[in-house]
Amino acid sequence: MPAETFEFQVEARQLLQMMIHSIYSNKDVFLRELISNSSDALDKLRLETLRDDSLQADTSDLHIAIEADQEKRTLTVRDNGIGMSHDEVVQLIGTIANSGTAKFLQELKDAKDATASEELIGQFGVGFYSSFMVADEVTLLTRRAGEDTGTRWQSSGEGTYTVESVEDAPQGTSVTLRLKPEDTEDKLFDYTSPWKIREIVKRYSDFITWPIRMAATGAEEGEEPGTETVNSMKALWARSKDSVTDEEYSELYKHISHDWTDPLETIRMQAEGTFEYQALLFLPSHAPQDLFMQDHKRGVQLYVKRVFIMDDCEALMPTYLRFVKGVVDAQDLSLNVSREILQQDRQIEMMRRRLVKKVLSTVKDMRSGSPEKYDTFWKEFGRVLKEGLFQDFENRDAILEISSFASTQDEEGLTTLRSYVERMKEGQEQIYYMTGESRAAMESSPHMEAFRAKGFEVLLLTDPVDEVWVQSVPEFDGKPLQSISKGEVDLDTDEEKKEVEAEREKQQQDYAGLLTWMTEQLGDTVKEVRLSSRLTVSPACIVSDTHDVTPALENMYRAMGQ
Ligand code: ADP
Ligand code: MG
Repeated sequence: MPAETFEFQVEARQLLQMMIHSIYSNKDVFLRELISNSSDALDKLRLETLRDDSLQADTSDLHIAIEADQEKRTLTVRDNGIGMSHDEVVQLIGTIANSGTAKFLQELKDAKDATASEELIGQFGVGFYSSFMVADEVTLLTRRAGEDTGTRWQSSGEGTYTVESVEDAPQGTSVTLRLKPEDTEDKLFDYTSPWKIREIVKRYSDFITWPIRMAATGAEEGEEPGTETVNSMKALWARSKDSVTDEEYSELYKHISHDWTDPLETIRMQAEGTFEYQALLFLPSHAPQDLFMQDHKRGVQLYVKRVFIMDDCEALMPTYLRFVKGVVDAQDLSLNVSREILQQDRQIEMMRRRLVKKVLSTVKDMRSGSPEKYDTFWKEFGRVLKEGLFQDFENRDAILEISSFASTQDEEGLTTLRSYVERMKEGQEQIYYMTGESRAAMESSPHMEAFRAKGFEVLLLTDPVDEVWVQSVPEFDGKPLQSISKGEVDLDTDEEKKEVEAEREKQQQDYAGLLTWMTEQLGDTVKEVRLSSRLTVSPACIVSDTHDVTPALENMYRAMGQ
């Protein structure tokens, strides 16, 4: 069958153009991406053969091989993993399924300069396409385990690619790059040099759990070269703490998260005793595009005795910590565990509780030890973490402790509840807050007047999630939380109250006629018209009963047609 020609999807084409004209200066990472894909393919094959006895696959010597040809200037990364079918090749390599891509490309267009673009690429990661930073032609040959026919895919990254069937392809995938000419100016090195390759593999892929083999150097002229394994394959979480460098942690993080930037914080845990496990968790330094999308992947990778079992293990992390990445390696689980079994497993439940506590205490330490890191963390993930206030009652106080809020006390910075309580005035019994769309809107709200006049601090909550959690958190440190736009807010001392009471009664009589008239005029649109003690400047304001929905929620319900 002759080769068919396909066109790249528009987004894919744009991305490829960027790779060809590569604005990303760290070109070495293409090799990391190819090795990472091979490693994933080997994991998948091993899992599939575990689940499906009838799969006709060769699993006798699973590995990754790198072959360089200095004369032809080609570099090949080969694996004998799961491989891809014809349709998978077209689907996975010809299009970009990631929903964040369009947004990413738009942001990239708007990026002011090369550094800004580079940062964006760093955050996004471009996987397989990064080959085009160093190659002017890429050939992928693959055969899916269990299938007879293989597929060859080829492209120079311009607008099209070709696909054809191949009868004698070995199981797995090989990717061959025809390298662009060497150019040290442009950071294009001689990627056929065994030294260069070895250096890159050691730097980025040492922890990969499959052997990465190369022709052994040192073979004499004319002698058949043997092979050697370049990576140590040592699981970082199983090595002693001080033998692992920050850079090694960083590379593992990038491998499992598909993020190209360094993590904000690394967390190590070791549990001994009846249920032994090791965990290596990471807090990313920025939120991914799809953090608030329904199908956002969450959870960490699960290993059993160093063997990869599954990605995105939901049973190990609650949704409000869905941004946490990492690895948990358990000693006593069956290799055959399924997601359903995990959800009900008591030991898994215990692990999860400890992991959650550890993450929360790490954030707490970050706040006292490195406030700048904490600020970044809060800016990126605070909105997600606050979901825990109504999802996880066991840890509610711990979450409240590490949360920060805008407040009338400080125009720019955020405050914690703890320091709010410390600033509370004589006689103030409650923690006052207001929810709304923006700081400016709340500050000019009539509800704020009496509080400003009295010098009471009010928390200003603008995230949509704030509307939800305030309903399920009654207090902090024994101090009730009180919305300033709900019900009667009592701002006065006993003495003041008596005076006010007398004054009020007099006013009530003076204005009785007006109030009756207004109630009649407004009819069903309001429940009641009453004199207020909360205003100092504005003539009137609308308040809701303590149990009524807030104006913002009311708008939300109305927008949803309820
Ligand atoms: P990602 O790895 O983040 O999914 P890539 O661009 O690196 O993105 O790869 C796209 C997809 O192509 C992979 O998810 C995988 O399904 C498929 N793929 C790439 N390389 C291989 C390989 N060596 N073996 C099998 N499938 C592969
Ligand atoms: Mg990849």
